[in-house]
Amino acid sequence: MEDTIAAVVTAAGESSVGIIRLSGADALKIASNVYHGKADLINAPSHTIHYGHVYDPKNDKIIDEALFMLMRGPRSFTGEDVVEIQCHGGILVVRNVLQLVLANGARLAEQGEYSKRAFLNGRLDLAQAESIMDIVQARSDKGIDLALNQLNGNLSDMVRVLRQDLLELVAFIQADIDYPDDDIERLSLNEMEDRVEVIKTKIEKVLLTAKKGKMIKDGLKVVIAGQPNVGKSSLMNALLGTNRAIVTNIPGTTRDFIEEYLQIGGIPVKLIDTAGIRETDNIVEKIGVDKAHEFLESADLILYVLDGSQSLQEKDKNLLDNIADKQVIFLLNKQDLGISSQLKDELNIIKKENIVLEISAMEERGITELEQKIIDLCFAGDLTISNTVTVSNARHIQILEDCLNHFQGFLNGARLGLSVDFLVIDLQNAWEKLGKIIGESVEEDLLNQIFSQFCLGK
Ligand code: GDP
Repeated sequence: MEDTIAAVVTAAGESSVGIIRLSGADALKIASNVYHGKADLINAPSHTIHYGHVYDPKNDKIIDEALFMLMRGPRSFTGEDVVEIQCHGGILVVRNVLQLVLANGARLAEQGEYSKRAFLNGRLDLAQAESIMDIVQARSDKGIDLALNQLNGNLSDMVRVLRQDLLELVAFIQADIDYPDDDIERLSLNEMEDRVEVIKTKIEKVLLTAKKGKMIKDGLKVVIAGQPNVGKSSLMNALLGTNRAIVTNIPGTTRDFIEEYLQIGGIPVKLIDTAGIRETDNIVEKIGVDKAHEFLESADLILYVLDGSQSLQEKDKNLLDNIADKQVIFLLNKQDLGISSQLKDELNIIKKENIVLEISAMEERGITELEQKIIDLCFAGDLTISNTVTVSNARHIQILEDCLNHFQGFLNGARLGLSVDFLVIDLQNAWEKLGKIIGESVEEDLLNQIFSQFCLGK
């Protein structure tokens, strides 16, 4: 029999209410051991709440006043008997109640163990369980929409349909192999190829959403670059709407990288302010400059800030050569001081289709236009998460890409005239891999790895 597990499911720290959750066959028994009140918890109906006190039977001591919430399996999150004890949210009180239930037979839950049990008891499939982690960790409203879309089972439903299609196809081929002489319905190789093409196209369509999905989930990595003193920190502040970064007019004072999170149009943005990138012999500064190059390399978008009142500098030209293949928005800052027409011409020479905006970070002019431009560029202006299947989880994306390879393998093999008993292997592999998205045929190690990323109490 599985242990009965317990954990604090509310955030650490003082709050008005703290919740300790028990899940497992002994949940009611343990709760009843530490309950002091009028109700008979063991026999109380499911989904009821009981007022009373948390009580230590060993020394006959009241620990706190609390509500006991009962949910009997299978109608609970984990599918097991669950009791949630709502006590006062003091750090010590919550810890004492947890200690008490542990002393009365519960075991401390591991990270993600509630969700893992929910999965193992069939309350959720793996993709849905993973979406719960995404909801908890979402850093933006769109991130929540995305995770909810997955929790609703959109991805899981698609996977099940595709697996069914594949299984049918495999069954046809298998029958053909096993009973070559029997008079059974058969598919020609052409028909098989067509069916595989259809499945492949569906997966390709879903994978098209991966970039947007990943950006919404993980956030857009926007790097602010440019020479010292052009107004990078000021821009960061203007975008943040707060004054977190230190603004100063001594060149090169923002030496470390400042990372901030913000939401633009409901999507999370990780904004990184790089130190001015320049040639240097100073070791510490050199590390910083190397790191800045790394950031630029991995950025989804670079905001390249220039002092709009000056012409392009040699250092800018060198740096711009390095980031020629990246998505860049040029920001001519200090618009309030006037914009140099020479600078505009110079940018035009580098690349005709450059996106150039004039802003004043100090006076916060042009910032809304910049935000709109960021959305236009990265999402083609479209940020809606419709009811269609969207993938955002790296594990799911990898599996879908692997499946595409198998389908391509099948199609290539078919064109080469390989025998069907050989071709069918690719389809079987794809079927098996797809199952891993929803948690069918996944190994224990992978499950542990996935659920260990959850926070405690989830
Ligand atoms: P960084 O070194 O690129 O991060 O530049 P800072 O943001 O520290 O700005 C350098 C100096 O330029 C500061 O004195 C800012 O007040 C000033 N500055 C920044 N943006 C503007 C602007 O839009 N207009 C004007 N006139 N000054 C600005």
